[in-house]
Amino acid sequence: VEVESLMGPSVDPHLYNPTQSDISKVDRADIIFYNGLNLEANMVEVFNSIGQSKPVLAIGETISEDALLEDEEGAIDPHIWFDIDLWKEALDAAVEELKQYSPDDADYFEENKQRYFEELTELKEEAKKLAEIPESQRVLVTAHDAFGYFGRMHEMEVIGLQGLSTEEEIGVSDINETSAIIKEHQVPAIFVESTINESSIQAVIEGAKSDRVEVELGGELYSDAMGEAGTKEGTYLGMYRHNVNTIYEALTGGEQ
Ligand code: ZN
Repeated sequence: VEVESLMGPSVDPHLYNPTQSDISKVDRADIIFYNGLNLEANMVEVFNSIGQSKPVLAIGETISEDALLEDEEGAIDPHIWFDIDLWKEALDAAVEELKQYSPDDADYFEENKQRYFEELTELKEEAKKLAEIPESQRVLVTAHDAFGYFGRMHEMEVIGLQGLSTEEEIGVSDINETSAIIKEHQVPAIFVESTINESSIQAVIEGAKSDRVEVELGGELYSDAMGEAGTKEGTYLGMYRHNVNTIYEALTGGEQ
């Protein structure tokens, strides 16, 4: 299978608009997979219309509804890839779609899936070290609410300055509330995301400082995009590992 992606590293999928070259890629494709659950909010029209003529699957919309998280306003959290078990379910749906498209290759797809699932199981084992972070400091503060599933899976409290999408503005009250939580829990570090301008997180660090609370920048996490192609972080496994290690080291005060 030849794979081409529409959005590269550092691209924010919530705000992304399709380009002319995306449209021609989608036209040439045999199958199209996307996350769905309103993650690629401005792409849905394109995917719906192309879905009239070829297989298009929103893999995030194949998983059971009771497993999905919602915000206070009832909007579904689309960042399902941070729950490794849910991601397996979504991938399973993609593999089934491939098998339907090319039944002769079904065994091949299934074998590859099984091999990859073993790697995902290992990843889940590795991530268990997050439970070693003292419970009161197991608080993950990031720019937007991308880590709800991650927090649920690894028993971390998650605070995003922005909501589930990056479309909303960050207000002074968001920054002040977050500083107060950092003070209360004595959170040692907070994080920037590769797809989001880091000014809001810097504002929280400054806000905490004026309140005489020391909080450090714990590093950069991959939330809604992977790293550069050809690097470890350019894969799902690599970006997930990077996040686990970065969070673990920053919140336990360990050395990188
Ligand atoms: Zn997001």
